[in-house]
Amino acid sequence: MRIEFDRDTCIGMFQCTAEWDAFQRDEDDGKADLEGSEEQEDDIFVREVPEGEELDAKFAARSCPVDAIAVYDDDGEQIIP
Ligand code: SF4
Repeated sequence: MRIEFDRDTCIGMFQCTAEWDAFQRDEDDGKADLEGSEEQEDDIFVREVPEGEELDAKFAARSCPVDAIAVYDDDGEQIIP
């Protein structure tokens, strides 16, 4: 499972940080940080979701009010949002 975080879209509501601890608050920027991710293109951060953390990652994605977080299954199909 892969997760993609659009940091430009993020408005710093921090619901995601309560769901999965890979998302951390960046109070200075007023945005979340996705730990362990790589910046794939401008402000788009991606990483694999480790086994056992899939549910937390999905909840984080669902909790985002501006759909800044997308989750893809291993076939590359987008499952959230
Ligand atoms: S829930 Fe969405 S808007 Fe809020 S910090 Fe997380 S990614 Fe950003």
